[in-house]
Amino acid sequence: MPELPEVETSRRGIEPHLAGNVIQYVEVRNSRLRWPVSEQIMKLSDQPVLSVQRRAKYLLLELVDGWIIVHLGMSGSLRVLLHESPPAKHDHIDLVMADGKILRYTDPRRFGAWLWSDDLEKCSVLAHLGPEPLSDVFNGSYLYTLSRNKKTAIKPWLMDNKVVVGVGNIYANEALYVAHILPERPAYSLTQEEVYLLADTIKQILRRSIEQGGTTLKDFLQSDGKPGYFAQELFVYGKKGELCPMCGEKIESIKLGQRSTFFCRQCQH
Ligand SMILES: [Zn+2]
Repeated sequence: MPELPEVETSRRGIEPHLAGNVIQYVEVRNSRLRWPVSEQIMKLSDQPVLSVQRRAKYLLLELVDGWIIVHLGMSGSLRVLLHESPPAKHDHIDLVMADGKILRYTDPRRFGAWLWSDDLEKCSVLAHLGPEPLSDVFNGSYLYTLSRNKKTAIKPWLMDNKVVVGVGNIYANEALYVAHILPERPAYSLTQEEVYLLADTIKQILRRSIEQGGTTLKDFLQSDGKPGYFAQELFVYGKKGELCPMCGEKIESIKLGQRSTFFCRQCQH
């Protein structure tokens, strides 16, 4: 599933080809995504793209009269084609640009979304989202204040979009490991020092992933290439039974809030 670093990598990959360019028309081959593709998007013609932004895991294409909001769902991806090329089975949407380039959306599982909004302030999918993890608002002090009295285990609590956006299962596992914190601990039980370290660790891990993603940006221009997701360097996620890189003990796995949770009992407390 695309997580925040992949979405940010996608944004950086498509932005140079879209911002300042003009959407000539939109070709929707299959509108049955998680929700039906908005009518307004299907009817767009000769619309300049003012900017390509991101909020949480949503890509936001700013047009003159409103916004196209794209969510990649479980398996969605975007790439830029330099010329017309025949769509494959799961290529559901093309934005055909005035300079001949095409932004192509591929989504085998069709859990993604293409929605229109006249006004982002009133957009229901973006309402109630917590701060961006890489913003200054998200820091140790914010997280510490918010975590007092919270009895929820720290890992599912961190993955709650109202607390902070974009910390998905992979990054919650990795950040708690690097910060030496057991995922099952109630949020309130973390010391101030632990919470500050955790906030910094989340930022570091996300930044490093986005940097790694940057090396795959060329893929956005390969018509036959794979989407711009990248192999991530992971310490514990998906590594049940493998040896902990810090101490050599076996990595354990449990379900926590129905999500696979990986940790080292020796290194995390
Ligand atoms: Zn260990």
